[in-house]
Amino acid sequence: MANPKNVTIIGSGPAGYTAAIYSARANLNPTLISGLQPGGQLTITTDVENYPGYENPIQGPWLMEQMKKQSELVGTEILNTEVIKVDFKNSIKKVYLDDGNIIETKTVIISTGAQARWLGLENEKKFQGHGLSACATCDGFFFKNKKVAVIGGGNSAAEEALFLTKFASEVFLIHRRDQLRAEKILQDRLKNNPKIKFIWNTEVSKFIGDQELKSIELFHKDKNENSELDLDGVFIAIGHVPATKLFHGQVDMDSEGYIITKPDSTETSLIGVYAAGDVKDKVYRQAITAAGMGCMAALEVEKYLS
Ligand code: NAP
Repeated sequence: MANPKNVTIIGSGPAGYTAAIYSARANLNPTLISGLQPGGQLTITTDVENYPGYENPIQGPWLMEQMKKQSELVGTEILNTEVIKVDFKNSIKKVYLDDGNIIETKTVIISTGAQARWLGLENEKKFQGHGLSACATCDGFFFKNKKVAVIGGGNSAAEEALFLTKFASEVFLIHRRDQLRAEKILQDRLKNNPKIKFIWNTEVSKFIGDQELKSIELFHKDKNENSELDLDGVFIAIGHVPATKLFHGQVDMDSEGYIITKPDSTETSLIGVYAAGDVKDKVYRQAITAAGMGCMAALEVEKYLS
């Protein structure tokens, strides 16, 4: 492996691929490490209706495949491996790979994205894959004519619930408040779908079952009482946590683990290290904003190296 590289991009979502496209076109010969889930969160979605440039809905996995091909076409080296450790303390930074290789690099763009957040209840791990999931697109098919619930009130919960109506007989949308934060268009679709049943002001307090999840205990906050709901499946859609474990102690983060960048910039607390996309953004978290930040990071890298 030729060292040191100009720029190493960690992560393969819209931020990572866009950073790759821009830095490749600036003749920086970028290397992109795609990680455990190449393509990121968009690979576990279906219809994407808000990525500009496409009149009709496109598929998330297809969009990511296109970004990957475009990055390669303009000269990105893509390594299908995982980063296990980083060392950013010297001006030439070190990125340790799962396959034993070590990349030395003048700059790094962190675009590792975010992962589904779980409730943190007892038995949650045990039931994952046994009636409990955080991805309707991946697991919805197993719930044909079954009764399921989605927990959450944001866009993800709304989209998951609507997607599940294609398979399930009933979909409960359980939200801890009496108002969704999902976009209006999604709220309208939910309200107009006869399979969707809302349970407001309610939190899940227990997962119940032996090998498979059979029911959940609910706490109704307004009535201050519990109830039990029999279900075949539960989908958690309560937001995300940034994938920043690798970078603890290396770059500054906020209390939730999001990487802090300078205002109007992707520059982190360390010179030569940039962060783009969901790993640093808890406000917008869109494919298009992540792509925009990937572009910014590549332009900042180009300026720094020159
Ligand atoms: P989100 O917008 O942060 O919503 C998370 C939801 O989960 C909120 O309704 C929140 O309740 C609830 N929640 C959080 N912690 C909880 C807990 N411990 N127990 C119960 N409920 C809990 O997350 P998201 O829906 O995953 O969306 C993330 C971002 O991606 C957003 O910016 C969203 O717009 C974007 N996104 C966009 C699209 C699209 O454009 N089509 C699709 C999916 C996601 P509260 O409301 O009470 O806080």
